[in-house]
Formats: sequence, C-alpha cells, structure tokens
Amino acid sequence: MGLFQRRILTERSRQAAPTIQSDPSMETDTATIEVANTSAFAALGLPEYVLKAIADAGYETPTPIQQEAIPVLLEGRDIIGGAQTGTGKTAAFALPIIARLHKHGKIRALILEPTRELAQQVYDALQVFTKHTNLRTALLYGGVRYGKQREQILRCPDIIVATPGRLLDFLGQKTFKLEHVETLVLDEADRMLDMGFLPDVRRIIGYTPAKRQSLLFSATVPPAIDSLSKWMLNEPVTIRIGSGTSTADTITHSIYPVDDRQKFDLLVALLGQIDYESALIFTRTKRGADTIQRWLEARDHKVGVIHSDRAQKEREQTMLHFRSGKLRVLVATDIVARGIDISGISHVINYDIPQHPEDYVHRIGRTGRAAKEGEAVTLFTAGEQDFLRGIERFIGQTIPRSKLEGFDYSWSPVMDSAQDKPRRRNRSLGPSAKARRRR
Ligand code: AMP
Repeated sequence: MGLFQRRILTERSRQAAPTIQSDPSMETDTATIEVANTSAFAALGLPEYVLKAIADAGYETPTPIQQEAIPVLLEGRDIIGGAQTGTGKTAAFALPIIARLHKHGKIRALILEPTRELAQQVYDALQVFTKHTNLRTALLYGGVRYGKQREQILRCPDIIVATPGRLLDFLGQKTFKLEHVETLVLDEADRMLDMGFLPDVRRIIGYTPAKRQSLLFSATVPPAIDSLSKWMLNEPVTIRIGSGTSTADTITHSIYPVDDRQKFDLLVALLGQIDYESALIFTRTKRGADTIQRWLEARDHKVGVIHSDRAQKEREQTMLHFRSGKLRVLVATDIVARGIDISGISHVINYDIPQHPEDYVHRIGRTGRAAKEGEAVTLFTAGEQDFLRGIERFIGQTIPRSKLEGFDYSWSPVMDSAQDKPRRRNRSLGPSAKARRRR
C-alpha cells in the first residue's frame, strides 16, 4: 500500500455525497437543467429566487443537514444543531433565512460568528444566496476601522453577520438597534465559549426581541452551552448530523510517530513526497507557526502564515493567496481551524498534536469538505501520548500509524498503537536522555 492509500471513504458516504459539478456534456438547456438540478431543494419548500441562487452555487443535492434543517426553519421553529464541519451548515441556515425575509426591509436577521474569518465566509456565502433578491447584508468584525462598517449600516442591511465584540461596540454607540430581529443564529457556540464570548453573546441576545426564531450550532455541548440553549431557545428541534465528535468519512487519517528532534525533517520529507494541491499545517503556538514558516522558506517552500498576531489585512491577503492557489502551503494556529472554507485543501498536517480533541476534528475538517477527499496527517512525538489517546477516544477510532518510506529515522517508529512509545533503533544514532539533559 503506497503513501496515504488507506481510504476510509464508505460506499454510503459516496452515495450520499452531493455532486458539486454537473456533467458538462449534459449542458444542453440551462433553464431545464436549473429546474431539474434544484428540484430536491424545491421539495424542501424553498422559493424560486432561492432556488436560482442554489443553481448559481452549483449545488444539486441538499446535504443531510440541509435536508433536515431547511423545512423546520421555514416553519419558523428554533433548532439546536450539532453538525460536523464542512457539512453545508451555512446554506442550511442561510437559505431559509433568505426565503423568510424575501424583500428588503429592516435588520431582521443576525448571525453571530466567533472569528472574523468565519464571519467573512458566511457573508460571502450570503452574497451568492441573496443574488436574486434585494436583500442587503452587513459584515461587522473587529480589528479594522469603523468607517466602512458604519457605511454598511447606513445602507440599511436586512442581515447582519458579526463577531460579538464589534457588534457590541456598535450597539453601545447606539448606531443601530436590533429590535426588529426575527431570526438569530449563534454559530460555533462552543468556540464562542472557548474564546470567552459567552457573556457578550448573552448581552447581544438581550438586545433582540424575546419573540424571535433562534438557531444554535455547536459541535459539542458542554454544560455552559446547554444552559445557554435552554435560555435562548424555545422548544427547539434537535438536529444532529454525525456525532459532533466524528470526522468526515472522506478524510484519510494517519499518525506519523517521530522523535522530537526529527519532526521538522519529517515534515520536509512529507511535503516532498505528498502529492498535495494545497497543504494546511497546524502548530500549537503562534511562535511555532512563524518558526515553521521561516524554516520552510529556508528550504525554498513558498509559505503563508496566519495567526492572531498577524494584522487583519495581512491575514486576508494570505487567505486570498491560499484560496487562489498562489500559496500552496499555509501554516496556522487553531484560529483557522473552525469553519474556514477553502475548497481544495488536499492535506491537513498537524505539526503539533492538538491538546483538545475537538480541535483535531475542527482542524482536519478543513480538508475533505463537501464530499471531496482529503488527507489528515499528524506528527506524533512520545510526550504527546495523552493528547493522542484523548483524540482517539473522542472520535471513537484508532488512527492508523504510518512510517515514511525512505526517511532516515533515528528512532524506529512504533506502528502498534497499543505501545505508542518510540524505541531507539540504534543507540549510537541519538544521545541518551541523560546526555540530552546535560547539553
Ligand atoms: P459549510 O459546512 O457550510 O462550511 O460548507 C462546506 C462546503 O460545502 C462549502 O464550500 C459549500 O459551498 C459546500 N456546499 C454546501 N452545501 C452544498 C450542497 N448542497 N452541494 C454541494 N456543495 C455544498
């Protein structure tokens, strides 16, 4: 079996997978194809002006979360959704919102996102989905000047996509009110919790009318989210696609045990052998991300880096270049692990194993999106055993161990997950722990 050959793509998921592109040879009559292609969406009760946008987006079949959520949301019910990343969640909530808003009016929908990148992504999706309506969307996030965002507000948006801090700034300045909000979406609620945004979120909800439709999405439901959901939702329908702890069936995982001192060399060797379209490398720290970028550039790789210390403009520029394919390697911290939708990421490489099991799911969810196949590679050193065990327990599977052929390991990697402890192949190749401590 060659490198990265172990596929865990199941027949079931292949059949359920939405087809993104229609067969060009079938393109005889655009009008007929549009109707035929979106009929599955029409059956969910979406109106014509939304169906047209769906056809523009190239969607043919609703994903499971869209299938379940859209009819419920069109009825005006609240939902609590635990969909895994890359499942088509954005369209699942955005399409019914647009259908219900229909025509331009006041600020009637509010979508809260934990990060600027996620907010931007949802905003971009809304631009496509609202194309055949006169609905307007505003995007508000921190780290940039207020001027342009204020202009968007003056244009009377129907939908606001925002991160909590900047939205509260505007609300505090009384730039606008949320008294006409009919639908509130709290996306990635567990991430909001991790980032300390829950008090802000509660305050924002306090600005919206008590009678509203509310949607809460969270990959995991820790007690704080559970109590928030009880407070903000009214008889919600629970929608759970995947277990919330599961990873997409389209992703092949592998663990590469390696000695700490050979980690970077193994990364370089992997990049040399993998046939990647684009690779996203995760590090635990910002400093780590900068270091990997510097080291890889010294080896003639063109590499972008993105983490919270980089200026917003620079982050956007880097994202743009990565999306367009100008940059094929991006090094990042967990800031981009949630939700960022960049199509065509063929490989996610965990240079450092994530300490929180949920982060593993989110990181690798950047590949294998919308039924495309992807590879998730994790470098693993002896000190990280507990983290790896935690991840495997969380996702309910043992990730296969792999060895890179042709790589000169100083310690022979252990392929049996039951004894995850690198053993020294040849004592003369590496100093003893005692000798290392003396250095
Ligand atoms: P999301 O989970 O909302 O971030 O979506 C992940 C990716 O799936 C995005 O690139 C969407 O454009 C794409 N997508 C969403 N719904 C569908 C669908 N029904 N058919 C094909 N692609 C979709």
